Amino acid sequence: MRKRIGIIGNGVAGLQLAYSLKNEFDVTVHHYEDLDEIRQGRIRSTQVHFHPALERAQRFGMQAVDGAPPIHTIHFNMGSQKLFVGKLASPAKSVDQRYAFAAGTSDLTRQGVIFRKARVKPNEIGELAENYDLLIDTTGKSGPLFPFPIEQELTPFQTPQRKCIVGYFTGVSPVMPEGISITVLPGAGEMFEIPALTEKGPVTILFIEAVPEGPLDAFKGIKSAQDFEERMKTIVHNHFPGVYARIHAEHFSLVEHGAYLQTAITPIVRRPYGMHGDRLILGCGDSAILADPITGQGCNTASYCAEQLLTTLLEHKDSPWDEQVGMAYWCRIRPYVTAVTNWTNAMTGPLPEHIAQMLMQAAQEQEIANRIAHWFEHPSSAYEAFTQASERA
Ligand SMILES: Cc1cc2nc3c(=O)[nH]c(=O)nc-3n(C[C@H](O)[C@H](O)[C@H](O)COP(=O)(O)OP(=O)(O)OC[C@H]3O[C@@H](n4cnc5c(N)ncnc54)[C@H](O)[C@@H]3O)c2cc1C
Repeated sequence: MRKRIGIIGNGVAGLQLAYSLKNEFDVTVHHYEDLDEIRQGRIRSTQVHFHPALERAQRFGMQAVDGAPPIHTIHFNMGSQKLFVGKLASPAKSVDQRYAFAAGTSDLTRQGVIFRKARVKPNEIGELAENYDLLIDTTGKSGPLFPFPIEQELTPFQTPQRKCIVGYFTGVSPVMPEGISITVLPGAGEMFEIPALTEKGPVTILFIEAVPEGPLDAFKGIKSAQDFEERMKTIVHNHFPGVYARIHAEHFSLVEHGAYLQTAITPIVRRPYGMHGDRLILGCGDSAILADPITGQGCNTASYCAEQLLTTLLEHKDSPWDEQVGMAYWCRIRPYVTAVTNWTNAMTGPLPEHIAQMLMQAAQEQEIANRIAHWFEHPSSAYEAFTQASERA
């Protein structure tokens, strides 16, 4: 008899898991928003998927959304000084999660995966787990529903290190060659410009990572799309003149009224397995590994962990799914999670001296610029660079 798996959540981790598990197991996805609620709701992320995650999506036959502008490069600016343009090994993409999640959910439904609509409550986890051989909590940053213990070693902060301020705009000319542009204002925060695709067409995402109470933390109390638009224009004018120069004032607006977001994340890493009686419960994605979005890794980490979870289950396909299986999954992802977490956390603080020097060298040497761009595709290489730097210091 095929084993039964329950997945809570139809976001990045939940959908990839459903696609990759459905041929070997009976999969049911528990979710609480219907397709129109997802599509008409607020934006959720900037969702850049680097090529390892895109390749996984293709391997698992996930519903592709065509037409996203390819992201070939990372432009890096320090204040008003342009330092370098690093080339990614393969193009990345950003497709509005509302669009991608709705497309994936309806495609999986057509393929026979069962979707049950209800917001699962923490006190229902035990009862739900009884229905399955395995329950996977992919409830994102609002989760987890299961009390996975915190890994203190990988959880250094008690408060958010940045305020995240995001709008999807029309009327901004893209940087060339097409890519993500990062502008760092030391002590104040960062601006990321990201070309992306929404259901309404292509947009430029303006994403500010503001140091709390600093000069970019200037969106408090904003409750309407119009006020958000105006404040963004003022902040870009005052702090990011290079971006402002590419704004066409007459066309500059949010692509629609739900296309802005303000949030703040306290990074937390949790041990992603536990037992409820004799039932195994695993965590995947933000519900277990939650990071500040400064390095754009959350979706990519969720995708990596979802694939490792699949591999672990296939290896133990014919044996009972118990705590040993949970441990095997955690051992498998821990090195990657350690690397991406430590790199991301380091990026929210003052940059180590050797990394600052490397950024300056990248302005002279294209090979170093490319190596830095590759950090986003392979965060373990970033972690190595940061660790070597601190060992030498
Ligand atoms: C401002 C910002 C920018 C970001 N930019 C990037 C980026 O460029 N690149 C990148 O890789 N990552 C980025 N991230 C992180 C990325 O968006 C997340 O890491 C990723 O979406 C996590 O996937 P997930 O499946 O864990 O959770 P989600 O994608 O959030 O999905 C969670 C799902 O669970 C459902 N759910 C929640 N609670 C319940 C419940 N009780 N019952 C049933 N269903 C439930 C939700 O409806 C949702 O469908 C960014 C995040 C933010 C906030």
